[in-house]
Amino acid sequence: MPQITAWFDYGNNSDWVEKSVNVPWVVCRRCSGEGHHGHPAFDGTTQEYWDQQEPGDLDDYMSGAWDVTCEECHGRRVIPGEPEFDDPVEEAAYERAWKRIVYDREVEAMELRYCV
Ligand SMILES: [Zn+2]
Repeated sequence: MPQITAWFDYGNNSDWVEKSVNVPWVVCRRCSGEGHHGHPAFDGTTQEYWDQQEPGDLDDYMSGAWDVTCEECHGRRVIPGEPEFDDPVEEAAYERAWKRIVYDREVEAMELRYCV
């Protein structure tokens, strides 16, 4: 089982604790477990784009001829998933820290938006 380093917030204004936790392997969401995916340069291409390319290019693309090793799992087909906790105190501390991290990122993103 892989391990990830996660933050835990036990509440009551205590300092956050950094801990390694076991997580299950889950199927990579970027490549759906294939280990490779279409070249990112072609992400979001339209039918109009392919209509202007050489005949056969779309077939090559669709057949995976230009695929690259998955950027997310690096070809391993799986990635570390979310930790599962037996102890509700640990789970709550993990969730609390995670919510705080997400909140801080949203605030930061909003600040960036209003600064430009
Ligand atoms: Zn992958």
